[in-house]
Amino acid sequence: MSSIKEYFSSVGKGIKSLVQGMEVTGKEFVTPKITEQYPENRATLEIPERFRAELTLKYDAEGRHKCIACGICQMNCPNGTIKLETKMVDLPDGKKKRKLDKYLYDLGSCTFCMLCVTTCPQDALEFSNDFEQATFTREALVKQLNYRPEPADPTPAPKPEAGA
Ligand code: SF4
Ligand code: SF4
Repeated sequence: MSSIKEYFSSVGKGIKSLVQGMEVTGKEFVTPKITEQYPENRATLEIPERFRAELTLKYDAEGRHKCIACGICQMNCPNGTIKLETKMVDLPDGKKKRKLDKYLYDLGSCTFCMLCVTTCPQDALEFSNDFEQATFTREALVKQLNYRPEPADPTPAPKPEAGA
């Protein structure tokens, strides 16, 4: 007797679950559909600001980036997407300084985890939301992020003379 009761109980639960599922499907069936007419709608397309499409260096108004070539982003990147090349330059005071030569970023292997951005001590990196990154070759996905001509460093202010 109890097994018949269990049988009808499970049939009832199955029907209830089916009706719930059909209810969800039915709602989606009558919801108005929106199809993006891309690329025709390129001019009006709105990509969320925080969408992670491509790593970039931040530049100030004078075209300077803040990267000090410390290599932290390269070390923290889990899959070798970032490769830094550095150079030694002579400073006006005769000292030498290590500077960024090439900041190479392979968009083809980036997982957009943001570890590089969040661990950069100079706040030198950000993600752009420029999503149109299709290329014909994988090589074209390797980008040099410091692509702008580098402005000269500001001349250091003269040191005050002793006793002045
Ligand atoms: S982007 Fe930031 S973390 Fe990477 S090398 Fe430059 S300063 Fe260092
Ligand atoms: S987002 Fe992640 S995978 Fe991409 S370059 Fe930065 S650390 Fe590497």
